[in-house]
Amino acid sequence: MIRCRNLWKSYDARPVLREVNLCLEDRGFCLLLGESGSGKTTFLNILAGMLPFEEGTIEWQGEVFDRKLPEMLRGEAEYITQEPFFADFLSVSDNLKLLGVSDEAAKKSLARFGLSEKKDQLPPTLSGGERQRLALARALLKGRKVLLLDEPTAALDESNKRRIFELLRDLSGDVLVLCATHDPDAKGYADMVLEFSKETGKVKEIPGQFPSSASLERFSGNGPSKELLPESGNDALPFLKKWFRSGRRERFSRICFIFFLTMVLCLVCLADTPAHKSDVTMDKLYHLNMLTLTLHGELDAIAVLPEDPRLRFLQFDYNNCPDGIEYSPDVLMYELPDYEVVLNILPNDPSLCLVSSRIRFGSWFTGPDQIILSPAMAEKLAGKRAEKLIGSTIKKNLYKRGGVLLTIVGITEELTQAERIYLSAAGTNIACGEYAIPENDQGLFYVSASTADIYRNDESFHTNSGGWQQTYHLYFDGYKEMDGYFRDHAADLKEKYGQDIILEKAGLPLEYALSWPLVTEILLPSAALATLLTGLFYGILRRTEFLYNSRFVAVFEYAGFEKKKLLRQLTLLSLLELAKQLLAAAILTAILTVTVNVINRRRFLVPLEIFSYNSWLIAGFIFLLFGMAWLVLRITFKRFHSGSWYELLMAARDLL
Ligand code: ADP
Repeated sequence: MIRCRNLWKSYDARPVLREVNLCLEDRGFCLLLGESGSGKTTFLNILAGMLPFEEGTIEWQGEVFDRKLPEMLRGEAEYITQEPFFADFLSVSDNLKLLGVSDEAAKKSLARFGLSEKKDQLPPTLSGGERQRLALARALLKGRKVLLLDEPTAALDESNKRRIFELLRDLSGDVLVLCATHDPDAKGYADMVLEFSKETGKVKEIPGQFPSSASLERFSGNGPSKELLPESGNDALPFLKKWFRSGRRERFSRICFIFFLTMVLCLVCLADTPAHKSDVTMDKLYHLNMLTLTLHGELDAIAVLPEDPRLRFLQFDYNNCPDGIEYSPDVLMYELPDYEVVLNILPNDPSLCLVSSRIRFGSWFTGPDQIILSPAMAEKLAGKRAEKLIGSTIKKNLYKRGGVLLTIVGITEELTQAERIYLSAAGTNIACGEYAIPENDQGLFYVSASTADIYRNDESFHTNSGGWQQTYHLYFDGYKEMDGYFRDHAADLKEKYGQDIILEKAGLPLEYALSWPLVTEILLPSAALATLLTGLFYGILRRTEFLYNSRFVAVFEYAGFEKKKLLRQLTLLSLLELAKQLLAAAILTAILTVTVNVINRRRFLVPLEIFSYNSWLIAGFIFLLFGMAWLVLRITFKRFHSGSWYELLMAARDLL
C-alpha cells in the first residue's frame, strides 16, 4: 500500500502539488488524469524516487519516508518510459531471456503480451506500442509490483492505445499500475482516477468507471514472476557474444583491420633476424644439405667422422686430384696435365641432390662412369636432337685411368640461378666464374659419385701442391639435419684434430644474407611499432564501438548482472575476437607469403627467402598485439561509467 499524506512539491517556489492525500492499494489500475502541466509526471517521478518533495510523507509498505523515496521503491517499481531501453543487439525473446528466465517462460510471456511473432526481431525494429508491451513483459518477469507509466499511449494509434490499456487493466489484477495520461478514453479501463488540477495543484480521487469486481476477466494466476528472476548462475557470455556478431556497421572496419593485420604479419615475416633469415634462405631457397670436409695428414674420413644416422652420404671430391702442372725449365713453360683436373661429382642417390628432379631427357645416375650433360653441352654435341645422346658414350681423360668412356645417362633442364648456386656450394664448377650464365655451359657436365670412388684409397691422388689432402662432401637429407650435425660435431672434431680437419658449411653467397642486418635494423623496429599500433588500433575500434552502444551495459545490469564481471567478460570476448581476426589474417598472410616465396624460388628475384617464419618473433608479435589491445580495453573499461539503469531513466526523463 502506498499512502501520501499532505504531499507538497514546488518548482522555484511555485507549487505543482499541494496537500496531496491519497491511498493506493497493492493492486489495481490507477489513472493519473489531468491537463498538461498539472503535475502528473512530477507525481510519478516522486514515486519513482527520482524527485524529492518538500513536505508531507509517503508511506510505503509500512515504512514512512519524507523528502524522497528510495529509487524505484528499491526495485519493486518500474518506470516505463515512452522509449524503453533494451539490448538492441538481442532479439525480443533474448531480451527477456537475459533476465535468466527459461525459454518456456519467455515464450509464455511473449504470447501474453502479443509479441510471439516478433520474438526474433530486434527491439529497434518494433513499433512504439510493441516496445511498450515488451517493456511491460520484462517488468513483470522481473517481478516488479508497481508499474509507473507516463503517457504510454501518447505516440500510439487508436488500436494500439486500446491494446495497451486492456493489457494494463489485465496486469492490474496482479500489480499496481499507475498510468499518467490526458486521454479521457482511458477512464473506461481504470479502477481509480486521480484527477490533477493545474490551477489548484490538488489531486482529487474519483472512482474509476471500470467495475473492479472479480467477475471481469483479468489476468491473474502467474502473479509477479519473482521465481523467474535470474538465478545466480545466469551467464551473460552467450548474450554478450551476440553483441560481437551483431556489429554489422562495423563489418567494413573489421575487414580493413584484418587486411591491416595481414600487412603487419607480412612485415614481421619480412623483418626476420639475420641469423634465422640466412638459415631459412639456405634451407628453403638453396636447399643446402651438404658440408665440406677437408682432411690434412693421413686421416681416414670414415674413421674420424662420428657415427651419426643423419649423415647420409660421404662423397669423394675429384677436384683435389694432383693438378699435374709442371714447370719445364728447358722450354720455359708450364706443362698442362692431359687429364680432367675438374670433374663435377654429384651423388648417385637422387634424393640427396636438388637438381636430380631437373632431368629433361634420360635419367639420374645408376652407377659409376656415368655422365649427365647440361642442355648447352648436349646441344653443342647433337644440336636439336640432344635426346639421342642418351645411352651413347663420351670419352674423358681421367687421372691415371686415361681415356674413360662415360655413358651419357641424362640431360638436365636449364637450371635456375638458385640451383646453380646450390651446385656451386656442392663444389661443382659452374662453367667458369661464380654461377656463370647458362650460355657458358657448353662444356658443363656432371659425373656420378661412384666414378670418383676408386680414388679414395689411392695415396698418390691425395698428394698435390698443397701437401697430402682429401676433400669430401657430406650429404644430409636436408638443411636441418646438416645444421644439427654441424652443431653437434664441428667443435668436437676441431678440438680432437685441430687444423687437420676442417668441417665447414658449403660456401653460399652469404654476402646477401649479411647485407640483411642493415634492412633488419629498419624493418624489425618498424614491425614492432606497427604491431603496437595495430593493438592500439584494435583497442580503439572496440572502444568506439563499445562506447557508442554502452547503454546495453545498464540493460544487463538491470537484468541482474554485475557490471565488473560484465566488463571483464567483454574484455575476454574482445580478445577472443582479436584472436579470430588474427587467425583470418594469418591464413591470408600464409597464402600471400607462400605465394611470393614460391615465385621467388622459381624466378630468383631476390637471393633471399623473402618471408620467413620465426616462431619467437611471431610469439613476440602476438604478445605485443594482445598486450596493447588488452591495455586499451582495460583503460577504457576502468574509466567507463555507463550510468545505471536508474540514471538512464533519469536522463530519458530529462529529455522528455
Ligand atoms: P504533466 O505531466 O501533468 O504534464 P509535469 O509534472 O510535467 O506535468 O509538470 C508540472 C509543472 O511543473 C509544469 O508547469 C512544468 O512546467 C513544471 N516543471 C516540471 N518539471 C520542472 C522542472 N524540472 N523545473 C521547473 N519546472 C518544472
